[in-house]
Amino acid sequence: MSPETPKLRAELDGIPTYKPGRPPAAAEGVPAFKLSSNENPYPPLPGVLEATAAAAASFNRYPDLACSALTGELAARFGVPAEHVATGTGSVGVAQQLLQATSGPGDEVVYAWRSFEAYPIITRISGARPVQVPLDAAERHDLDAMADAVTDRTRLIFVCNPNNPTGTVVRRAELERFLDRVPGDVLVVLDEAYREFITDPDVPDGTDLYRERPNVAVLRTFSKAYGLAGLRIGFAIAHQPVAEALRKTAVPFGVSQLAQDAAVASLRAEPALLERVAGLVAERTRVFEGLTAQGWTVPETQANFVWLRLGEHTDAFAAACERAGTTVRPFAGEGVRITVGETAANDLLLRTAEAFRKEL
Ligand SMILES: *Cc1c(COP(=O)(O)O)cnc(C)c1O
Repeated sequence: MSPETPKLRAELDGIPTYKPGRPPAAAEGVPAFKLSSNENPYPPLPGVLEATAAAAASFNRYPDLACSALTGELAARFGVPAEHVATGTGSVGVAQQLLQATSGPGDEVVYAWRSFEAYPIITRISGARPVQVPLDAAERHDLDAMADAVTDRTRLIFVCNPNNPTGTVVRRAELERFLDRVPGDVLVVLDEAYREFITDPDVPDGTDLYRERPNVAVLRTFSKAYGLAGLRIGFAIAHQPVAEALRKTAVPFGVSQLAQDAAVASLRAEPALLERVAGLVAERTRVFEGLTAQGWTVPETQANFVWLRLGEHTDAFAAACERAGTTVRPFAGEGVRITVGETAANDLLLRTAEAFRKEL
């Protein structure tokens, strides 16, 4: 056997691997809740299981490469041309395609930090240099500093709205001012994975903003509000050249027919979706107010999670949650992100946080 190993791209050295949220350990007599991955706690929407079961009967066949039925539904729903819709294997998959289409060695990609942990990973895989712009004191994107960070090497900017893991948002006027400052040849990606949970009317809808701006692409997913995280399906809405580039960079047949049909069925189950989202938003308010009343500083959140900046207490808090039967997502030395789950899970979380605070 040759002692040599295959040459791998130097860009891969030191790239962190994605840390999935831990599932809770099953312990006797202790209910187990997973509040670590921002998933939807509910079962599939009405009609979705039936649609996937029907699709499963023919998975000896390749799926529809163009995702035609879903693309048509999405185009109608958002009032955009079908050519502006591009689907992919989760919105992370679509984000990676956007990087492939725009950025490589010598280029720069700007995003806020801390933000979605996939951004540094997929940026570095592309070979481009990540430019991380610290959040402001209120845990929000510092859009002025992000615009200042743009150079002639910048190819792509992520704006995560609401921001994962802090839940904070950027509002219409500041985002428009930012977009006015960014050169038209730099792609701005509005990552709206949690759009359905937004109740603040001053938070703009990216699918409105993109219309007059050819350099804006909007990312959406079926993983969160729609509850299809396990099926891997997301999409972008962008002008023709960008959407076309997404079709070129797509893994052929990457989106399964199960995922496509489940997404269509989910879109058609809107009343049930809205009811669930309303329930989770009410729980979000309850968790936010409960934690605040306990004395925690919680940034205002428009997503299905809350952020506690625990600093050095982060790991201890996560361990306390785990002992109580629930997992949260710790970012060592920084804080924890806690998904808003079903009522019993949120009750348990609130009790655990209260007890932990008394020990501080
Ligand atoms: C969860 C999440 C996504 C969605 O990922 P999928 O690949 O669609 O499951 C995208 N962006 C952010 C910020 C997220 O938190």
